[in-house]
Amino acid sequence: METERLKCLIIGSGPAGYTAAIYAGRANLAPVLYSGLQPGGQLTTTTDVENFPGYPQGINGSELMEDLRKQAERFGADIRHGVATAADLSQSPYRITVDGDKVLETDTLIIATGATAKYLGLADEQKYAGMGVSACATCDGFFYRKKTVAVVGGGDTACEEAVYLAGLASKVYLIVRKPYLRASKVMQERVMDNEKIEVLFEHNAVGLFGEDGVEGVHLVKRMGEVDETRYDLAIDGFFLAIGHKPNSEVFKPYLDTDEVGYILTEPGTPRTKIPGVFAAGDVADPHYRQAITAAASGCQAAIEAERYLSARQ
Ligand code: NDP
Repeated sequence: METERLKCLIIGSGPAGYTAAIYAGRANLAPVLYSGLQPGGQLTTTTDVENFPGYPQGINGSELMEDLRKQAERFGADIRHGVATAADLSQSPYRITVDGDKVLETDTLIIATGATAKYLGLADEQKYAGMGVSACATCDGFFYRKKTVAVVGGGDTACEEAVYLAGLASKVYLIVRKPYLRASKVMQERVMDNEKIEVLFEHNAVGLFGEDGVEGVHLVKRMGEVDETRYDLAIDGFFLAIGHKPNSEVFKPYLDTDEVGYILTEPGTPRTKIPGVFAAGDVADPHYRQAITAAASGCQAAIEAERYLSARQ
């Protein structure tokens, strides 16, 4: 298998990965960055980012990521397409296999693989994948103009997606398992003030139906209680917005993770238990999960990598 030797390898192309690449590039570490399954990361699936400092009018998520990529390339980062499919972190240099057919040996590794949308685990979600089921309203909302859709979840993502879809669809149901929304006050207000959105509190989706695509959802109101009600609701699209799973599988045999899979780092730093291996952004952050905090930890990881390499010389 083809092998390449590197000083600094970055896996992932969200704000953490690109920021690490900017800093590592400027520190002359000749970083190579593999962009993963979704180049640009989660922000490319959103519309406007309103809370990234420096953009008083907000900025389109894809544009922001494109700018970060160009900034990293300006300082010599080598940005490539590819997915890390295996890792051997048992000794330095660390070995990462990309796309199953290329091995990279690296002195430092920055894991910035982010997190992926979660599904409920219903068999129907797979049955109707690409036929009415989606985990990204901004990617797929376009197909539901003037139609009826449902969004599952009660957090900021669910509210944001419901509001976004309300701009396209004729009706949006927000399916929330608790009697309240977990989202921030401002997002809750946007949902409640939107005439097209109807919030179904204490509801669970238990199945989907339809001939050639989603035509409706089987709902249970108040699951687990005696007075539960079951009924069907006609919808054309079913959107999941129930949180994310960190993309840490490949590295789990070598690194400590919490029960969800978030990589554990030394508090306040991106240092993992392996010297020279750092975890930045959402893959190691169950608390904040913001673009700006991911970018900040990418910066920390690159500075740590540079210091680690200098100390070894
Ligand atoms: P959250 O974890 O905050 O919310 C997940 C939601 O999905 C909760 O309402 C949860 O219900 C529900 N849920 C989870 N599992 C199930 C299930 N099996 N069945 C039904 N419902 C389920 O995730 P988000 O993606 O919304 O947000 C992640 C982080 O990103 C948060 O910190 C959020 O504030 C932030 N964010 C910020 C934005 C912004 O500022 N513009 C936009 C988007 C996200 P329950 O409450 O019952 O647990």
